[in-house]
Amino acid sequence: MGADSLAATQVATQVTGDIHAWDASGAKSPEALNAWVSARLVAHETAIAALVAVEGPRTIENTLRLYDAAIEHLSLAGAQAGVLNSVATEKAVRDQAQMEAQRVAMAGSALSLNRGVYDALVAMSLDGASAATRHFVERTLLGYRLAGVDKDQATRERLQALHEKATKHSLDFSRNIQEGGKTIVATQAELDGLPTDYLGRHQPDAGGQITLTTDQPDMQPVMTFASNPDLRERMFIAYNTRAYPENKQILLDLLSTRQEIASILGFRSWADLATADQMMGSAANVRNFLARLEEASREGAVREHELVLEFVRAKQPGTKAIDITSRGYWYEQFRRSAFDFDSQSVRPYFPYKQVEAGVLETAAKLFKIEFRRSPAAAWDAAVSVFDVYEEGKQVGRFYLDMHPREGKDKWFSAAPVVTGVRGRYMPEAALICNFPGGGEDDPGLLQYSDVVTYFHEFGHLMHAILGGQTEWAGVSGFATEGDFIEVPSQMLEEFFRDERLLQSFAKHYETGEVLPAEMIRKMKTAGSFGRADWVRTQLYYTTLSLDLHDQDPGGIEFDEITKRLYTSLVPWTWLEGNRMYASFGHLTGYSSNYYTYAFDKVIALDFFGQFDPADLLGCDAGARYRKLVLEQGGSKAGREMVRDFLGRDEEFTAFSKWLNEEFDNQLMSATA
Ligand SMILES: [Zn+2]
Repeated sequence: MGADSLAATQVATQVTGDIHAWDASGAKSPEALNAWVSARLVAHETAIAALVAVEGPRTIENTLRLYDAAIEHLSLAGAQAGVLNSVATEKAVRDQAQMEAQRVAMAGSALSLNRGVYDALVAMSLDGASAATRHFVERTLLGYRLAGVDKDQATRERLQALHEKATKHSLDFSRNIQEGGKTIVATQAELDGLPTDYLGRHQPDAGGQITLTTDQPDMQPVMTFASNPDLRERMFIAYNTRAYPENKQILLDLLSTRQEIASILGFRSWADLATADQMMGSAANVRNFLARLEEASREGAVREHELVLEFVRAKQPGTKAIDITSRGYWYEQFRRSAFDFDSQSVRPYFPYKQVEAGVLETAAKLFKIEFRRSPAAAWDAAVSVFDVYEEGKQVGRFYLDMHPREGKDKWFSAAPVVTGVRGRYMPEAALICNFPGGGEDDPGLLQYSDVVTYFHEFGHLMHAILGGQTEWAGVSGFATEGDFIEVPSQMLEEFFRDERLLQSFAKHYETGEVLPAEMIRKMKTAGSFGRADWVRTQLYYTTLSLDLHDQDPGGIEFDEITKRLYTSLVPWTWLEGNRMYASFGHLTGYSSNYYTYAFDKVIALDFFGQFDPADLLGCDAGARYRKLVLEQGGSKAGREMVRDFLGRDEEFTAFSKWLNEEFDNQLMSATA
């Protein structure tokens, strides 16, 4: 290639200077954000133009290098538009960020349909390419074919228009959930059963009314502890209608748009298209997997339900059934009685700050890295920033945005901030969560399930950072098959079960007393009661996500399908007016592939079985896992990573043991 194109290549692969979409004052103004994204998109287009203009034989250096630079700029812009859409303090910035996210998604869609780029990649010589590079190219070409790059111009334009519509619907759907929080009012008496610190934070107004929001720290305790069924029902309905009715039509439009895309591409349904490049491979394989899950959990779920129902009948003779709004409450009551474990009793040992320190220390020991507080600015003063060091050298950075804030996303998630590329970009990632705490006088006492969630999200974070040292942006961090992505998160969840590890950070927030071993034992026993029911609930979400994308959307009645599936899979009684589909946020990102959680749970439990229970952090499984799985990012097929780490394919054994054996042990000890 000539001197001119060499210069073009250098310009196109330059690292863009200002890698953050916010400044020292927090998020930039909408105008500045727009300019920041525009600069990345210009760099993206420059790289593509240089790629297409290359003359002579195509090589990895003159073609793939430019393609990856284009991906790099796009993922940087997309990641931060996405993060600011979820967390920016000012609504004007969030609105702008949503538009920018849409713009970036459109650039991505245009790239996926760019025939010139596809032809260039196909023509490229892979002589001497590493296995990771070959995998990257194969995945990319498969993505192109699935996107419809080989269709005629008019069809590609139609596909681009449909992608634009689908993206808009997805963003609107998420935004309505994010900003659609509701409130309910309650009297003091109705809060009976709730923890003292909860009552302290919810004082009645002059008229004696207490206002509760549908945010997680307000909602979750009501569903678990409030003895008043009427209050639980009001909260349940408010929570499950927080984006209703506006999201009903949006969801229908989204499903129709996806189905049309699938039809144009020659697929029977969106579910077949969306699984074609996943580990699962097809909607039919998902159904086979679900049948196994159904069988594995059936008996356990029946027994669990019978035990809880029997317990309720002893308290309230004549009870015929337990409804969906009372499940959490009665499980908690049953656990207290059967296992002598009150989940409130451990909350004082899990104040937010200590949990944060404990999770960080666990990960640091497991992966042999170090976290130091960073003076770097984030998008809001409430965000803590940490730098990641390995052998004295900085290898990444992460942002913890962990408590609710007005207008902020209401869920728990991990998100890339800067896609790492070895020698070019240091990986950065964020946790966006809604844990209790964060206020001046609020210690933020977590339920133990919150602590498990913290481990989960931190597993994602480590994947982004440790997997963010790859040669190509296109295989960095989360760039595995989508249905492998919940393995690292669910694997780290299991570390919560270790007594020594828990005792290193679970200390009473007032007395400093270490969480006693006896309480941990009870917590674990009680906490594992309900696993069969958890699997059934996952089956319900999974089947819903699949069915909505595996039929003609024209005929879908959301109220009918949600009720029918729930009733067929779960023993609790449905409540009319429950519009959960309108706030089922995973339908945008995972679409038909919510099965990912259950599928990856099977893999994660098998992975966890490789660790020495007597020395979780010290055994060599941690280093092997880091090297063979996390550090790979998307450099290998998920199937290969499973085989590399396990020496075989995943098996159901660890999952079944987790589901049933421990359950039997508990029943023996409960009835002993
Ligand atoms: Zn996750």
